[in-house]
Amino acid sequence: MTNIVLFGPPGAGKGTQAEYLVKKYNLFHISTGDLFRKHKENNTELGQLAQSYSVKGELVPDNVTIQMLAEEIDKNTEVAGFIFDGFPRTIPQAEALDKILKEKNTAISLCLALDVPEAELKERLKKRALDSGRADDADPEIIQNRIAVYQNSTFPVIGFYKEQGKASIVNGLGNINDVTNRLFEAMDAVVA
Ligand code: AMP
Repeated sequence: MTNIVLFGPPGAGKGTQAEYLVKKYNLFHISTGDLFRKHKENNTELGQLAQSYSVKGELVPDNVTIQMLAEEIDKNTEVAGFIFDGFPRTIPQAEALDKILKEKNTAISLCLALDVPEAELKERLKKRALDSGRADDADPEIIQNRIAVYQNSTFPVIGFYKEQGKASIVNGLGNINDVTNRLFEAMDAVVA
């Protein structure tokens, strides 16, 4: 199996780029943000709980997020590999993911980390808010908090994968196509 973590701050282009990686490498896409939003649309208890954090730009607690992710992995057994988008966002989540995959005799192949400066992220999120309909994209204070949470809790996760020799930092600036090609190059250097 080829299992990829697509990593980066909010607004880095993870969702957009995940689509291209899914097609080229035949991966199954798991976005914890999308899963939480689906729960919210279906008005489940988990959806309401997640919403109470995401409206503030905060992370949903690890135990809840990890359980949801583990269930999603379990539901999709016949796949060539996974691309994790927006997960892991904390070191305990990264450790849990390693454990879950190990139990399935597989592992993370590569963490592709999109590098985009903060000013550009804010611009992109402001634009995205116009058609995403996401309240957490529209409010500058929430955006600021999401970026701060990324820097404090999520950024250290790159170190976790660097220690395992599995991190590849990719320049996330420029047009979508250029970024996609950089990601493909980083993938092809590792995945046969
Ligand atoms: P995203 O669509 O990835 O930007 O996620 C939207 C929101 O969902 C985040 O701001 C968090 O509140 C929540 N969320 C998504 N993924 C995670 C995660 N791995 N851990 C904790 N909270 C998450």
